[in-house]
Amino acid sequence: MTTPSDFEKIASACIQHYESALKKKGKPHEKEWTLLSAIILWHNEENFTIASMATGTKCLGEVELNDKGNLIHDSHAEVLSRRAFLRYLYDEIERINDGGISKYIDFKSGKFRLKDNTKVIMFCSRTPCGDASIIPKQEEEPEAKRPKLDIHRTGAKCVPGEPMDERASGMGYHVTCSLRTKPGRGHPTRSLSCSDKIAKWCLIGLQGAIMMHFFDLPLYIHAIVLGNCPFNQECAERALFKRFDGKIPNLGKVYNKIEPIIYKTNTQFNHQQMNNRTVACGAAIIWWKSCKDQQVCVNGLKQGVSKKAKDSPKSRCSVCKLELFSTAQRLISKLKLKIESNEILKTYESYKQASVEYQRVWTLLREDALKNWPRTDRKLNSFS
Ligand SMILES: [Zn+2]
Repeated sequence: MTTPSDFEKIASACIQHYESALKKKGKPHEKEWTLLSAIILWHNEENFTIASMATGTKCLGEVELNDKGNLIHDSHAEVLSRRAFLRYLYDEIERINDGGISKYIDFKSGKFRLKDNTKVIMFCSRTPCGDASIIPKQEEEPEAKRPKLDIHRTGAKCVPGEPMDERASGMGYHVTCSLRTKPGRGHPTRSLSCSDKIAKWCLIGLQGAIMMHFFDLPLYIHAIVLGNCPFNQECAERALFKRFDGKIPNLGKVYNKIEPIIYKTNTQFNHQQMNNRTVACGAAIIWWKSCKDQQVCVNGLKQGVSKKAKDSPKSRCSVCKLELFSTAQRLISKLKLKIESNEILKTYESYKQASVEYQRVWTLLREDALKNWPRTDRKLNSFS
């Protein structure tokens, strides 16, 4: 059982961690704002840990992507904290394999899993971008003195195939329930909004295809804890799971759609968007519990990388696809994991496809619930 006071405790622990454990590099300047997100492993109020944390507001445009796997395409805090969480999991897997003990992860009959009493909790300083952010606001119309309904607007555009925004006045401006790409200026992006990505994690787990080579069960989010921000319970539930009601087929024995608890706390993140903070911070901080030092990512690479060095290994953040993939490959071989595949296992894509049950469920979900989810260009995943 987790209670509202647990969630308040988690939110203040996250803010405190950001303020005291993370260094200044990568944090917003006076006029800038950012988003903060973290993943917490929880036993009880005395016993929990912040496994990963990230800030970030940016993502790359489609024209900026490449097929090397070295760039972080999506640097919203929620997405980076998940990637840093994967890094934390790989570190724990290796520690257990080397004879160490993990407080939150077990190793049983050749596979890893969360300990029975361990819950995964996600903290976000603000309502995730996209559908969850389309919420009614009530304003007094000064002359008529009656409430006029309007909504908080988002710059997140509906993806092709989904119902499109009507852009009518007030409540009619946006449609709800559509998959959307990330809001923001700059080159058009293919990255989906955080509402959509979190919704996907509620259906198929946080761990992704490749981590499923190590775990016997997917890792689902038990609760999403939000900082103080514009929020509407109904809209958040709609965006993160209710919009797929009636569209989820039987996923089988391993995967089970989870409806996380969504709880808004009164804890304020002082670097969030507000009157005096109007510019989105371009840098993103990436931290996980076993990292040596926080990393700062700008435009998909480590901060401070010169143009000449942009393809060199030291310019990569540890949570880009290529770095996570090479860790996975190294551990698959160190742990002597057997992966069955019809294809030759070499590329990132081939290791993803070899996660057979995960791919089966993902295909099922794309038949109806997520049918307009943009297909990743396989060429972008052809690196090895
Ligand atoms: Zn976002």
